[in-house]
Amino acid sequence: MKGAKLVLFITGKCSKSCFYCPISEERRDRDIVFANEVEVDHIQQALTEARLINATGMGITGGEPLIEVERTCQFIQAFKQEFGPKFHVHLYTGLEPVPINAVEQLLEVGLDELRLHRFHVGQDYSRLREVTKGRARLGVEVPMIPGMINQLKKMFRQLDEIGIDFVNINELEYSEVNAKELKQRGLQLDPDTMTAVQGSEEEAITLLEWATTETQLNVHFCPLSLKDGIQLRNRFRRRAKNVAKPFEQITEEGLLLKGIITPPPNISLIALSKILLNEYQIPLDQFWINESLGRIETSTTIVHRLVNQLKVKKIQVGIAEEYPTINRIQVSYVPL
Ligand code: SF4
Repeated sequence: MKGAKLVLFITGKCSKSCFYCPISEERRDRDIVFANEVEVDHIQQALTEARLINATGMGITGGEPLIEVERTCQFIQAFKQEFGPKFHVHLYTGLEPVPINAVEQLLEVGLDELRLHRFHVGQDYSRLREVTKGRARLGVEVPMIPGMINQLKKMFRQLDEIGIDFVNINELEYSEVNAKELKQRGLQLDPDTMTAVQGSEEEAITLLEWATTETQLNVHFCPLSLKDGIQLRNRFRRRAKNVAKPFEQITEEGLLLKGIITPPPNISLIALSKILLNEYQIPLDQFWINESLGRIETSTTIVHRLVNQLKVKKIQVGIAEEYPTINRIQVSYVPL
């Protein structure tokens, strides 16, 4: 919820084909690594991203992390070395049965928590429980697919017997990539949320209520509003504090708010920067030439102050909001 965990996407490769899989086309089946939104070629880049959000832990996901267990271990080792043993690492796996050798390797390098993303009722999980006992927490994290409540109750009964540490139930996400598969199964988009599958939250709550009286399990429900609204916003806020330029303001949503000055074709960016410096006495640290977007960025106060004078020179002025991510995607632009 604090957005304090780095999301390490360790590979897009996966041998399963869950119909609800939310992995984007750009990442699916590709052997690429992302630390949050940053594609990384080297562990150092992932460590830098962790520093930029003041991370206190990380969640390793994919794809299937256990397909690249050596790589996964190298990352865990590097992160534990850099941030200390308290840096909390959890990892998702969808393999069943879970390969015990791989789990042993992960435990050796300090994995703190294993989350099983797929669970086969009736399969023997005793060896996995034994190996992880006292060394790492063992949990199950699955989406709530409407209509599956009875299967999940059966799963909960077995999890209770195993003595699983926790169960996380996620609200099922409706995305561009899984929409067709969900529709084919009669699952509808919840019009109130625009991201969740209708009925997923209601069935999850019914299941939680049932589990309270029928099991000893420690069960959590994670609605999409929490993941998209609170967790992501908090992560943006953390990163924004470390990457904001002196003239950029951080909004409640963790976005970067700034003034934009775009010259007409007959005025170069250099000429415009000289106008700002010499004619309007704007200090050097209060603006930045964004060559790739062909504009100068500054504070909202400065553009409000200069708007009339700049417009006389046919220079466009506006206010923009950007994600504080590596690619700084612009989410809004309002011309003044
Ligand atoms: S195990 Fe995970 S990554 Fe693999 S297909 Fe299923 S949801 Fe997608």
